[in-house]
Amino acid sequence: MKKVLKFGGTSVGSAENMKKVASIVLDQKSKVVVLSAMSGTTDALVALNAALSEGRGILEEKLSELEGKYRRCTGELLSDSKEADTLIGDTFAFIRKTAARYSGDKSAKAIVAQGEKMTSAIFAMYLKECGHKAALIDITEAMRTDESGAVDTAFLASKLREILSQSDGDTLFVTQGFICRDSNGDISNLGRGGSDYSAALIGAATGADEVQIWTDIDGMHNNDPRYVEGTYPIRHMSFNEAAELAYFGAKILHPSTIQPCREHDIAVKLKNTLDPAAEGTTITATGDSSKKYHAVAAKDDITVVRICSARMLLAYGFLRRVFEIFEKYRTPIDMITTSEVAVSLTIDDNTYVEAIVEELSALGNASYERGNSIICVVGKIEHDTPGLVADILDSIREIPVKMVSYGASSRSVAMLINSKDKITALRRLNDHLFVNR
Ligand code: ADP
Ligand code: ASP
Ligand code: MG
Repeated sequence: MKKVLKFGGTSVGSAENMKKVASIVLDQKSKVVVLSAMSGTTDALVALNAALSEGRGILEEKLSELEGKYRRCTGELLSDSKEADTLIGDTFAFIRKTAARYSGDKSAKAIVAQGEKMTSAIFAMYLKECGHKAALIDITEAMRTDESGAVDTAFLASKLREILSQSDGDTLFVTQGFICRDSNGDISNLGRGGSDYSAALIGAATGADEVQIWTDIDGMHNNDPRYVEGTYPIRHMSFNEAAELAYFGAKILHPSTIQPCREHDIAVKLKNTLDPAAEGTTITATGDSSKKYHAVAAKDDITVVRICSARMLLAYGFLRRVFEIFEKYRTPIDMITTSEVAVSLTIDDNTYVEAIVEELSALGNASYERGNSIICVVGKIEHDTPGLVADILDSIREIPVKMVSYGASSRSVAMLINSKDKITALRRLNDHLFVNR
């Protein structure tokens, strides 16, 4: 069976964990391993970029701390750390040089890519030191996006085929998640948490049967374990359910991960590096359709945009004009509800919200409100089964609900609430739909 294994930040976050990763990889006889940056790296580099773009100068203390973390890790991991010392020295020199000549987005992306680059190189050094045949792939030679920001999957497949064919059958390929090149050939990335998506794309491009996402928890839980006690892993779920949960905020999986796997019928496994024996979650086309309520997730930083217009009454073409404005600003819409004279939409990208609302004002009374969360309940919420939506809304009866989206599919209900009510809502839904049943 052909597998692609991806390990997240905590999984490669220390020498001890990297050793665990090596034993999992060798045990599984996988050929391609996709790595994130050591935990804390991307956050630190993003903070550095923010300081640079705001003219606050280089965060030298933070950068030195990060460098120290890498040096400690390689000192512990490798018996001969000379090559790693050079790599770390060169990388931090590059970061400092780029920071000194900081020129905006292009510099920021070059800086933030260094975490994945260093981590993957260090891991490949370790495998080689242990006597294994390992090759480091620079994924920016194969993963590139087009002008619309979409990954060129045909180029990825042909490049990877070429690269993989250059080594013999028992070589273990180590590469970076997250990073890529854009249509100008500059270093770019697939967005925060994007290593999962990289692994799925690489799985599809190499004809894998399975993509394993190794992280710090034993699979997709039925609710957000950061806010709710007593959550449990779901053993089996469908691509549709997993995609919906990831899209509506389940942080364990980047929302784009499922799409290439569904398209190529590649099973996705979510596994725990810190407890490899735990079963984890398997995501396939069929899933487990026996339960009414499967899981709950929440997505923050949601802005609701409202348009109220008497002109909408009995008019056709009104929604098209609304959507065209969002399309112009390349801003995806998450939820939508309509009445005969009003439309409410939600977005999670606020970059152009003011410009969008200004243009919408030509169509009616337009406004926006930030600080909301979408709560999504996923399950077998069939249209012809009475009481399911009532059950869900009843669980959070004391919380004001601003929008409800139901009926588009029979597998989810999404509700918009004020973010300050999010944790209470997650807990109430947990008590009502999972514990007291
Ligand atoms: P990695 O660095 O390995 O990519 P992430 O931090 O991106 O890991 O994702 C794992 C984290 O996702 C877990 O530690 C957990 O706190 C969080 N999480 C949020 N919602 C869920 C959920 N429904 N099931 C499992 N984990 C979740
Ligand atoms: N290192 C990147 C991040 O922290 C990508 C990832 O871990 O998936 O967002
Ligand atoms: Mg992640």
